[in-house]
Amino acid sequence: MTPAVDPEDFAQIRDQVRQWVRDRVVPREREIADADAIPDDLRRQAKDMGLFGFAIPQEWGGLGLDLTQDVELAMELGYTSLAVRSMFGTNNGIAGQVLVGFGTDEQKAQWLERIAAGEIVASFALTEPGAGSNPAGLRTRAVRDGDEWVIDGEKCFITNAQSADLFVTFARTRPADDRGQGIAVFLIPADSPGLAVAPHDEKMGQQGAWTSNVAFTGVRVPASALVGGDEDTGYRAAMTSLARGRVHIAGLAVGAAQRALDESLRHAAVATQGGVPIGDFQLVQAHLADMQTGVMAGRALARDAAAKWVSGEDRRIAPSAAKLYCTEMVGDVADRAVQIHGGAGYMRETPVERIYRDVRLLRLYEGTSEIQRLIIGGGLVRQATKELGPPR
Ligand SMILES: Cc1cc2nc3c(=O)[nH]c(=O)nc-3n(C[C@H](O)[C@H](O)[C@H](O)COP(=O)(O)OP(=O)(O)OC[C@H]3O[C@@H](n4cnc5c(N)ncnc54)[C@H](O)[C@@H]3O)c2cc1C
Repeated sequence: MTPAVDPEDFAQIRDQVRQWVRDRVVPREREIADADAIPDDLRRQAKDMGLFGFAIPQEWGGLGLDLTQDVELAMELGYTSLAVRSMFGTNNGIAGQVLVGFGTDEQKAQWLERIAAGEIVASFALTEPGAGSNPAGLRTRAVRDGDEWVIDGEKCFITNAQSADLFVTFARTRPADDRGQGIAVFLIPADSPGLAVAPHDEKMGQQGAWTSNVAFTGVRVPASALVGGDEDTGYRAAMTSLARGRVHIAGLAVGAAQRALDESLRHAAVATQGGVPIGDFQLVQAHLADMQTGVMAGRALARDAAAKWVSGEDRRIAPSAAKLYCTEMVGDVADRAVQIHGGAGYMRETPVERIYRDVRLLRLYEGTSEIQRLIIGGGLVRQATKELGPPR
């Protein structure tokens, strides 16, 4: 398949992002963590490079990268503080892709160019207390009142809620029935009366990226805010956007694992015990070997899943397999990286200490590892049953 962006142009974009990450962002990681904020100059630079819209089609002002290219960029962005990617992650990913894939032309024209330019931050508001792994159980309601919809409910853990201008919000218009889950998705401006964003959560890692609860109390939006103009689009849009996002997260995990490995190699080469470089110890080499193998396998799998997404060959099992493997792999790699650093690995000033905490999230959001296993296992059995027929 011909990629959306010419490979030479993409190589330039990737190189520019790699240089930005390594020269500008890596030296500021401690500052970002301590301030729990992304410095304004880095935000501006990200905007100037088009990073708020790298996965938005060019006709709407984005860079127009396809998922094979998106995943390469994710590997670069994963190399540093994951909060930096989160600043524009919802615009390109879970929130932006709902509009790209399911919005009407009018909705795209109203929002996408400003999202791609970073003038607007879009948040994806799906999760609720008691409806995370099982979003079909969500209870936020949308009731039609003349030419408007009235929305009531509460969302939790919503990334970028504090800075959002737009909430891509999932709400139930009716109980699930044989037509579908009864879940619609609405474009709700953050300044809508009745919408309240709670103070941000205190998280384990990824300082500089914020999540919050968001309450909707009698929030009114016009009928034109219903994505796709169709009440049954919501659930499908959420599942598609999340599946695509899983490949991106797999790429991020590979980038973070590569960084943990590079930090560990540097340490193993220069740190000594009894005058011997710790890299000379074969048990340390065994850790490094397993880390390298995990990174290589993860990279190959993330690339394969992205290619299968773009060709349309597999948009369900491969994204889950890539997310499952790569996010578990980076958890193991980060753990080994701390081990190789010894006591220093437990100290805030050591990058692998942050990586260890940052990457823990990757196994939780956009579907936990357990949910990925259910998708993969269930999908495989369904395929086999289809091919072989029902049990005899
Ligand atoms: C930092 C952060 C950012 C986030 N950003 C967003 C966002 O921007 N927008 C958004 O909508 N959501 C967001 N989320 C929510 C995230 O997607 C959910 O937290 C996640 O899907 C898990 O749901 P839960 O927290 O309700 O946990 P639960 O679903 O309660 O899971 C608890 C445990 O039970 C297991 N479990 C649940 N169901 C099953 C099952 N059927 N079979 C086996 N095991 C099961 C899970 O795997 C897990 O181990 C974010 C979360 C965090 C922590």
